[in-house]
Amino acid sequence: MNCTALPSWEPHVPRGLLRVVEASCCEEYVLCFEAAQFFVRRVTGQGAYEETARGPYARAAAVWGELAGRHVCRNQTGDLGT
Ligand SMILES: [Zn+2]
Repeated sequence: MNCTALPSWEPHVPRGLLRVVEASCCEEYVLCFEAAQFFVRRVTGQGAYEETARGPYARAAAVWGELAGRHVCRNQTGDLGT
């Protein structure tokens, strides 16, 4: 694990048939495959998609794992009901 900064997010522009490879907890980040490249996709507050780390599987999967590992799950807080 290195300490390099994560790639910046850019608006997702569809380039072909998109396949979901793996989704993180709560589907916050989705590892996708499209047009012979892998990348990480997320949903913005406006319902649009952003992508980062488009390229070979190893790189995209590493970034995806890093992002997924930072996930703070709202479903595990135990704050159900009132
Ligand atoms: Zn979660």
